[in-house]
Amino acid sequence: MRVGVLGGGLQGCCVALSLAQHDIDVTLFDRNNKLLSRTAVANEGKIHLGYMYANDPSHSTARMMMRGALAFAPFFARHLGLPYESMTVSRPAAYVVHRDSQRTPEEVSHYIAAVHAMIRDASEGRRDAYFGRDLSDQPRAWTTAQREAEFDPEVALATFATPEVAIDPVALAQSLRDRIGADRRIDVRLNHEVLSVEDSDGLDVSMDTPSGAVRERFDHVVNALWDGRFAINEKRGLRPNRPWLHRLKYGVSFRLPAGADLPPSATFVSGPFGEVVSYGAAALASGGGNAGSHGAIRAVASFSRSAGVEGRHCQRRRHRRMGQDRHL
Ligand SMILES: Cc1cc2nc3c(=O)[nH]c(=O)nc-3n(C[C@H](O)[C@H](O)[C@H](O)COP(=O)(O)OP(=O)(O)OC[C@H]3O[C@@H](n4cnc5c(N)ncnc54)[C@H](O)[C@@H]3O)c2cc1C
Repeated sequence: MRVGVLGGGLQGCCVALSLAQHDIDVTLFDRNNKLLSRTAVANEGKIHLGYMYANDPSHSTARMMMRGALAFAPFFARHLGLPYESMTVSRPAAYVVHRDSQRTPEEVSHYIAAVHAMIRDASEGRRDAYFGRDLSDQPRAWTTAQREAEFDPEVALATFATPEVAIDPVALAQSLRDRIGADRRIDVRLNHEVLSVEDSDGLDVSMDTPSGAVRERFDHVVNALWDGRFAINEKRGLRPNRPWLHRLKYGVSFRLPAGADLPPSATFVSGPFGEVVSYGAAALASGGGNAGSHGAIRAVASFSRSAGVEGRHCQRRRHRRMGQDRHL
């Protein structure tokens, strides 16, 4: 059996590895000249446990995020031989209720407690489920003094400590590229822009390449193109079965000067705010080549807003189903 995987982002690469592990031949396509070259290395690496989605009273988004988060470290331990102890993680995230939040501090507090109970039950005390973190303690509210020492009290109404961490996405991407490059079952085709998928005896994938148009036949195709996904599905008559929001998200990655105070990792909820993820010096070591400056930090901040915009080639976009965030 031959499977074509469209898109060499995090999803496409993980799908390719899983299929190869089942002895399936995979061809992995991407339009860029490198795997994992865009959002995969521009995101802030948070392994969301679901605390962020207080606007979803059904908890279905939180449940989905939690399932993914608890599978994340075991997946990479299995496929990359990376035990959780070797993965550098950020400072755990504080959840901060913004003064313009769509939810009150009490609502956020109840929501975080409810989500945490689900996480505790689902992780069943397994230390390897989430980077060796102890998930048994309830997230607690910071004292007023703690909050005012870190945040503007005019803006931050309440703050909750959580065990949620981020991994260094740049280091992860490099490990994945190395692993995929060494897998004889995975044939990587870069600089291939997927144009369409059509039914024939199998599935014909048409692509634009530097040497002209090409077409290849597969038994199965996995569409992991993210921003290109809808356009390709549409050509086969597959339409989303519910309205989608497109959310723009911008990230900034920066390095603090040696000796600067390490800022807390902070996620502002609930609304069009943003988050800061703060890594220690060890994160730089696994980031490759930048280690060394004592006490150095890399912090990643990102900001988002919802908008009814369309723009096929915008990498900085997250798809969001109404009431249910897909990822992220
Ligand atoms: C600023 C920012 C911060 C984020 N922070 C987090 C976070 O902390 N935690 C989290 O879980 N998520 C976060 N996300 C979201 C996360 O990065 C994405 O959900 C994830 O990277 C999506 O992976 P993917 O493989 O589905 O898509 P992508 O990474 O977009 O990969 C799709 C691939 O398909 C290729 N492609 C697209 N169209 C074509 C085509 N027609 N032909 C060939 N190739 C094509 C692209 O080149 C790309 O390599 C963030 C996103 C942004 C923008």
